[in-house]
Amino acid sequence: MSMMTGKEYEKSLRKLHLKVYIFGERVENVVDNPIIRPSMNAVAWTYELAHRPEYEDIMTATSHITGKKVNRFTHIHQNIQDLVKKSKMGRLLGRETGCCFQRCVGMDTLNALSIVTFNMDAKHHTEYYKRFLKYLEYVQENDLTCDGAMTDPKGNRSLPPHKQPDPDQFVHVVEERKDGIVVRGAKAHQTGAVNSHELIVMPTIAMREEDKEYAISFALPSDAEGIIYIMGRQSCDTRKLEEGTLDRGNQKFGGHEALVILDDVFVPWERVFMYREYEFVSQLVEIFAAYHRQSYACKVGVGDVLIGAAQTAAEYNGVERASHIKDKIVEMNHLNETLYCGCIACASEGHREPSGTYAVNTLLANVHKHNVTRFPSELARLAQDIAGGLMVTMPSEKDFRSPEVGKWMEKYFKANEDVPTENRLRILRLIENMTLGTAAVGYLTESIHGAGSPQAQRIMISRRINMEEKKKAAKRLCGIDDEPK
Ligand code: SF4
Ligand code: FE
Repeated sequence: MSMMTGKEYEKSLRKLHLKVYIFGERVENVVDNPIIRPSMNAVAWTYELAHRPEYEDIMTATSHITGKKVNRFTHIHQNIQDLVKKSKMGRLLGRETGCCFQRCVGMDTLNALSIVTFNMDAKHHTEYYKRFLKYLEYVQENDLTCDGAMTDPKGNRSLPPHKQPDPDQFVHVVEERKDGIVVRGAKAHQTGAVNSHELIVMPTIAMREEDKEYAISFALPSDAEGIIYIMGRQSCDTRKLEEGTLDRGNQKFGGHEALVILDDVFVPWERVFMYREYEFVSQLVEIFAAYHRQSYACKVGVGDVLIGAAQTAAEYNGVERASHIKDKIVEMNHLNETLYCGCIACASEGHREPSGTYAVNTLLANVHKHNVTRFPSELARLAQDIAGGLMVTMPSEKDFRSPEVGKWMEKYFKANEDVPTENRLRILRLIENMTLGTAAVGYLTESIHGAGSPQAQRIMISRRINMEEKKKAAKRLCGIDDEPK
């Protein structure tokens, strides 16, 4: 099979038998569930755009293992340009969907594993890289969406995995068989989990020898026996169940997260990519994290949408010429383009790893993601400032359509006489959706905690800066010579 279209992707999901729960009930038809559907639409867009000639260069790549054209989300970065295009792809899709399109986690996992499995084999003469390449070919040939599953529930944060009172707080092996392993545990906050064909599990924190039963990485079909998904709630999610769509803001797209339970799931050896190599866990976590911090290029694209919405709201309100509004729009653009600088920089300063995969600059990727923990909140504040209070006091679409009271909304919510009142309500609902509703999960809270909370980036920044070099530069300029002779 070659690259799938959005429709083919949707069809492929219908063939899966996922065990998904939402509001305490099993979801029989995941694809058409109104709460989940917008998130499926967003992933489908990653397939759809790959077929548009104008985006071919950004959305597709040439596989280094088969030489065939593949969707960039399944590609292993072969040079700096691949890394730069990955950042551009994130911005493009963020702007197209206005939300989290979910597919980056799998791409980042594949790239991290391509580096670490190679390094493990070099040290231990294992076969992980060979297994990984075979698996990668399967993913590329079938154009699959992979959910990269890293975050364990972690139980008592002060205890390592082997000291947890409940050993299942970190995914671990409960049985070793001739043909594979049986694993138990859970992964929390799993972006796009029920829109994925595959689940690729990685450990979540650095481990010592005592934790080696937890030092595992493996891939499973998303509907393997024993996997259970419990959908996360999002603010205002039940608006998707209402009649009419105006109050949703974003009419088509959304994201989702789920708690994924691994209830004694069997993994055949050919799908195991790490088993007990505890000394490679921190490498895998760090490389994955750096790639995924780069992936927060997505927020730049979502920022583009928010800036466009704020400017439109200003025009609809008739205030676009006010100097403070113009200044706020400039500030929003400044913040958003500063984010863009970070994700382009960490890609441009990338390097080749021994496996041939190109990795991003870890320091700059962490700086980029750290900016993402802050700037979208400021962008959201400015958008709300520009939009005005009606964004949160506006009655519902049902009232607007009501033969009795709709006329009052029509009359009193009219601002710029050239703009239909409904358009004004629509743009305000979009800003509400992105800064307070379902899309705020991705744009605001995920910007803080996704790909690691702010402190995780500060730790990496402190580790990666070259302080000695900076001190030397300062001392040299003011004539201090205290170097040991
Ligand atoms: Fe991709 Fe951004 Fe969603 Fe993470 S938050 S999966 S980087 S779109
Ligand atoms: Fe994320």
